[in-house]
Amino acid sequence: MAKYRKDLGRKMTPEEKKESRLKTIKLYSLTDRGKAAQKRSQESWYNRTIGAIYGVLGSKCIKCGFVDIRALQIDHINGDGAEHRKKNGNSNSYYSSILKSVIAGENKYQILCANCNFIKARENNEKRDIKWNKII
Ligand SMILES: [Zn+2]
Repeated sequence: MAKYRKDLGRKMTPEEKKESRLKTIKLYSLTDRGKAAQKRSQESWYNRTIGAIYGVLGSKCIKCGFVDIRALQIDHINGDGAEHRKKNGNSNSYYSSILKSVIAGENKYQILCANCNFIKARENNEKRDIKWNKII
């Protein structure tokens, strides 16, 4: 018993502290509050990243001037969006790589509305998740 009490009083090693902190975070992430916090954090990160991309590229379709953000899309100018998504998924790294490129001024992305983006893809016969001959 005395040994147990003595052990409680000792300071944790840095490794034990890290392990304890990770355990607490993991347990918290399993609670409803923790899950909600994770979701808010993810949404907040997504909104900030997308906002920054639109902030640099502009918030309207460069072809027709459409401005409703609900139908605006980030277009891969050289049509390699399918490959890019396949490589990264719709993950944080996907949007991070777009933001980095946009900030670096690499001119690989532009804002198009959904209609102009679809028409461009069709005209250039870009790879899409759908088969063109199924819709025409
Ligand atoms: Zn447009």
